[in-house]
Amino acid sequence: MAYLSTDRVEHHFHDVVIIGSGGAGMRCALQLADAGHRVAIITKVLPTRSHTVAAQGGINASLGNVDSDHWHWHMYDTVKGSDYLGDQDAIEYMCRAAPLLVRELEHQGVPFSRLENGRIYQRPFGGQSREFGAGGQAARTCAAADRTGHAILHSMYQQNLRAGTHFYQEFFALDLITDDGGCQGVMAWDIARGEYHLFQAKAVILATGGAGRVFRVTTNAHICTGDGGALALAAGLPLEDMEFFQFHPTGIAHVGPLITEGVRGEGGYLINAEGERFMERYAPTARDLASRDVVSRAIAQEIREGRGCGPDRDYVLLKLDHLGEELILSRLPNIHELALRFADVDCTKEPIPVQPTAHYTMGGIPTNRFGEVVYPGYDGKETVFPGLYAIGEAACVSVHGANRLGGNSLLEIIVFGRACGNQVMKRLKQHRYHPPLAKDCWQQGVARVEHWLDRGRSGQEGIAGVRLQMQSIMQEHFSVYRTHEVMAEGVRKLESLAASLPEASIGDGNRLFNTELIEAMELENLMSLARVTAAGALARTESRGAHARDDFPERDDQDWLKHTLAGIRDGRVQLDYKPVRMQPMTVDAFPPKKRVY
Ligand SMILES: Cc1cc2nc3c(=O)[nH]c(=O)nc-3n(C[C@H](O)[C@H](O)[C@H](O)COP(=O)(O)OP(=O)(O)OC[C@H]3O[C@@H](n4cnc5c(N)ncnc54)[C@H](O)[C@@H]3O)c2cc1C
Repeated sequence: MAYLSTDRVEHHFHDVVIIGSGGAGMRCALQLADAGHRVAIITKVLPTRSHTVAAQGGINASLGNVDSDHWHWHMYDTVKGSDYLGDQDAIEYMCRAAPLLVRELEHQGVPFSRLENGRIYQRPFGGQSREFGAGGQAARTCAAADRTGHAILHSMYQQNLRAGTHFYQEFFALDLITDDGGCQGVMAWDIARGEYHLFQAKAVILATGGAGRVFRVTTNAHICTGDGGALALAAGLPLEDMEFFQFHPTGIAHVGPLITEGVRGEGGYLINAEGERFMERYAPTARDLASRDVVSRAIAQEIREGRGCGPDRDYVLLKLDHLGEELILSRLPNIHELALRFADVDCTKEPIPVQPTAHYTMGGIPTNRFGEVVYPGYDGKETVFPGLYAIGEAACVSVHGANRLGGNSLLEIIVFGRACGNQVMKRLKQHRYHPPLAKDCWQQGVARVEHWLDRGRSGQEGIAGVRLQMQSIMQEHFSVYRTHEVMAEGVRKLESLAASLPEASIGDGNRLFNTELIEAMELENLMSLARVTAAGALARTESRGAHARDDFPERDDQDWLKHTLAGIRDGRVQLDYKPVRMQPMTVDAFPPKKRVY
């Protein structure tokens, strides 16, 4: 093939290449660019279209602007929220850093909403308590109205432009360049021009975001296809805890767009078809602000027992009209607009129809708290994969364990984006030159694209049909409630669908701005992630956080207080496990307790 010759591949050298221009990638780039390093960001969309822009409710920090608060209480809530699967050293690190870094965001230009006294506005979010659960509800989520992610992402972009970060936008990462010495670069495809680019770097950082699109109904943008996880799997690395997928309780029924938890934080509440505030039965203390897994299960239970609303009785209602038009339009303007557009409901007058919707990928590429990608070595000890890092939703550090608290993800991307930048600087001091690359290292990336272009108009089933089947399998077999039988059938269907994917076709064999080509490669990525998610879920015979099984309703700390590692070797999913890091950095560990809200 002509395209395998070197002269068709443009070669770039950078100190650091970051794949992803969401909040995580951009915060990390800023740390490095400000220190004078030559940093490039590769992103498949325009930087400010990354999914971070859609984040609504806010970012957690124990600023204590509304009532007294402490990072240690934040840490307690996060460990409890994670159903004790979170790594406590990383959680301590994140919660301690939060106040400093949120104030720093303000200085970097994020226009937070204000309290009357001029301090940063904070609203209550799910799973937030004071004094280790004894002191009632905390208000820890710092917000810029209901567009906090938008504000953060735009500030980060502007800061990076100032700092001189190089942006390669509408470039699609195809393959990691790795050998026994670690990761040396990445192959990418220029979507607009249809050209190959080889990026050589002393450090490569995966900041590719979540994989919500493995499900049919999701709050995630179409670009959230887990590409970084798939690149890691292809490089022979496992993914961690993928069976823990967060279902947000309040996606707009049937279509999915998110109605932020901030609505309940401001005083909104859920009702069933009988008009009952049913959360009082499931979580007597925290009620509508119990953590997300608890509220999602409660809604699913109401629907199962016939108390859902609508002709199919398949959703419940989120009532907020009692908050008054003024508050809704000032604190939740985006929600008002989303409800109008997607549900045809004016929420200042009527409740919004909602149902649990796939929202957040708790699992991901395993890392330590410095963002270094780790894998189990032959001696059972964790080993760092040199030169490769992962941050943000693509990574599993793991601060969210089995269930993420709202507002902790924007925090994660800022805290670990920065921490990773600092760690990469240490590597750059030791590695001053780019190592030589293997002669044919780019061929795998090239083969990926050429495979699909060759299959343009091959007359076989199109990729859209395959994607829909995959999403439907995940939606029907790996949803809020899971059982062995249903999941085992799901795994069988998924494996046979995955085997058929290389035979599917695209309708367009053009090289220039071929969006269907990109969708085909995204589908390959989604399929790998769906496979490891399904296998991990089937194997885990307990209920913990977002992984709720009818046939194993209890948490089983004896056998399952451990992280899943799922890799794909010789075309087959293989499972392994590793212990949870229960020991925090400086304080005492929070031992597992029954989780009650
Ligand atoms: C609707 C919604 C609302 C949310 N609200 C909140 C909230 O209020 N508070 C909170 O804490 N969290 C919230 N979250 C979660 C949070 O926003 C995300 O977890 C977080 O923003 C992810 O940031 P990231 O930088 O890891 O990835 P993203 O922002 O998703 O960015 C991923 C980047 O990777 C790039 N990329 C991916 N694959 C490739 C590839 N193959 N080649 C090149 N580039 C690639 C993309 O172009 C993009 O730039 C919300 C999420 C959603 C979906």
